Amino acid sequence: MQDSQFELVVLGTGGGASAIYDGLASSSFMLLHQGTPFCLVDLGLGVGREVVTQFPQFSQFPRNVIITHNHSDHSGDLPVVLRVEQARGNKMQVFAAKEVSRRLQTYRMAEHLQQLSVEELADWPEIEPFQSVELSHGLTIEFYPGFHSELSYGFVLRDQQGQARLGYTGDSCVDSGLYDFIQQAQVCIFDARLKPNTWHASFAELKDVLKANAYIIGHGLTASQVQQEFLSLPLLVASQRITF
Ligand SMILES: [Zn+2]
Repeated sequence: MQDSQFELVVLGTGGGASAIYDGLASSSFMLLHQGTPFCLVDLGLGVGREVVTQFPQFSQFPRNVIITHNHSDHSGDLPVVLRVEQARGNKMQVFAAKEVSRRLQTYRMAEHLQQLSVEELADWPEIEPFQSVELSHGLTIEFYPGFHSELSYGFVLRDQQGQARLGYTGDSCVDSGLYDFIQQAQVCIFDARLKPNTWHASFAELKDVLKANAYIIGHGLTASQVQQEFLSLPLLVASQRITF
């Protein structure tokens, strides 16, 4: 792990409401190879601005973005970013499970469709659940369905040796199939909230699940709340960097 050339940088840890009412960017992280961003994971409310702020030395968004599902806190900034980057000559590529991709193209992109087709806006590789697809830098991605109020998929990234390097649940309540799948990876990121919730796991439910190199996102807590009240839990905070 120490000589890994991959790391992620946390962009936000909140949900839709915390993005708007508390100024916390939605749950998202950037993947980097040798310090250079190459893929964004989710692009919800507030995340686009966070990318511009945290990576001022890069003049454009990375070409690749993974979208777990069509909720505003995971894809709300997507229409604007795809449109601006396309106009600047950086046509992005959206990695999402097939049905999620269809929903993004049909509903999330609707605001652009009188002027541009979805194919003009971005590339949309067709990816079946559980199918292994090349992402970038020798990594492949496989999606696995979560259990959530909107169709949502977690994923695992594997290296060229087939080693699972990074797993993310996306939004989901506790689901043993999804969790077993994610936990193949050396570094695992779980969606969870402080209080029990029908569509998200809670901190209490994750207590016995979390192993070394497991982290929690989607909690909507500020960095000072995390430091003062939840230091015993591996809650991610914005700007945190993790090697995978
Ligand atoms: Zn959601």
